[in-house]
Amino acid sequence: MRQTENISSWRNFPAAQQPDWPDPAALRAVTGRLAEAPPLVFGAECDQLRLRMAAVARGEAILLQGGDCAETFDRVTTDSIRGKLKTLLQMAVVLSHATALPVVKVGRMAGQYAKPRSGAHEERAGVTLPSYRGDAVNGLEFTAASRTPDPRRLRDAYEASARTLNLIRALTTGGFADLHQVHAWNRGFVAGSGTGERYEALADEIDRTLAFMRACGVDTRELGTAEFFVGHEGLLLDYEAALTRTEPETGRTYAASGHLLWIGERTRDPDGAHVEFFSRIDNPIAVKLGPTTTADSVLTLLDRLDPDRAPGRLTFVVRAGAERIRDVLPTLVEKVAAEGALPCWVSDPMHGNTVTAPSGHKTRSFDTVLDEVRGFVEVHRSLGTHPGGIHIELTGDDVTECTGGGNTVRPEDLPHRYETACDPRLNHTQSLDLAFRLAEMYRG
Ligand code: PEP
Ligand code: MN
Repeated sequence: MRQTENISSWRNFPAAQQPDWPDPAALRAVTGRLAEAPPLVFGAECDQLRLRMAAVARGEAILLQGGDCAETFDRVTTDSIRGKLKTLLQMAVVLSHATALPVVKVGRMAGQYAKPRSGAHEERAGVTLPSYRGDAVNGLEFTAASRTPDPRRLRDAYEASARTLNLIRALTTGGFADLHQVHAWNRGFVAGSGTGERYEALADEIDRTLAFMRACGVDTRELGTAEFFVGHEGLLLDYEAALTRTEPETGRTYAASGHLLWIGERTRDPDGAHVEFFSRIDNPIAVKLGPTTTADSVLTLLDRLDPDRAPGRLTFVVRAGAERIRDVLPTLVEKVAAEGALPCWVSDPMHGNTVTAPSGHKTRSFDTVLDEVRGFVEVHRSLGTHPGGIHIELTGDDVTECTGGGNTVRPEDLPHRYETACDPRLNHTQSLDLAFRLAEMYRG
């Protein structure tokens, strides 16, 4: 059993990217109440996801993780949540059919309310204010009042997460995730989008598979529910620590704010507070690895976060950028394999490929995103290891934040519907396009 007696040990380590809370007493009042609140997820669910992730590690399943870069309180709406869930379910059917493997579905949802920032301040027209750090910390609006960190927002983040998770649980068990319905949506995509035709043959195959299952006497109506998990970057340690829960029966301690938590590229210092905190929780966890990651630092992270070398415990999410992935990834994978470890390897093809458009919008091109995933799959294929899946930023809405893809978004279209509170997301069509392309890659 993991040593969990001292879940506060992270306080003895330097914690990067924490807000400058103006009123420590107000922070303590909020975290004190959160410590008494019901957990958002249970340990047994986290254990279930660990089992699923162990299958990913062994090459017997694929991870699909996606959602907003930053969730916002004003988008905790039925339409917004349903749109993201629908997009992920549609993608999962395509991927599962193409690979003949189960797809482990994790929303970047119900808790993605805190953002690390490259700069602590933002300047506009001669005015300098604290950077936006996610709705759990401060407001996006560029005023001094809105940008001042307010700990009451942690309570709001907990409540927004609970509302989101409640709808997700209702939709995924209440018929919304029915395989026939999800496939009918995919048929609609194939018929209605510019590039959809290209995927007609694959959609036809899924039709035939469903017909075949019915012919064999399988009651496909039983495929009406979907297993769905949620996760977010475990950035705000005061919040995460307040929501840890130790289960009396097992003595195991879980971050009860989400099933899968990850450590970001900016907070993965092996001697920092985030790694210390994550080493004390029993959830399945992930770490983002950027283009400058050294093999030594990955081995140190392995020792700190997965000393037992338990498949399903640790996932490495690589976001090296399309230009670097083929150079950076092979050594990391080889050195980790030489340790006898079996982590999951997942591609985040978005964060290494962010550029600024002539209009000033932060954007990413669909082709570059695709190229990073292709590089990721190629490297694993050549090493004989498993390309375990993808972690992406997406929305179910028809936003214009990334360029290219089906129903092409041109750079001049970006201002039309640019709604993200942080990084640019793939829209619904671009997400499905990516799923079909990925399906081709996994088969190819
Ligand atoms: C993110 O996932 O939004 C993010 C900030 O990623 P990274 O830590 O990889 O930069
Ligand atoms: Mn992001």
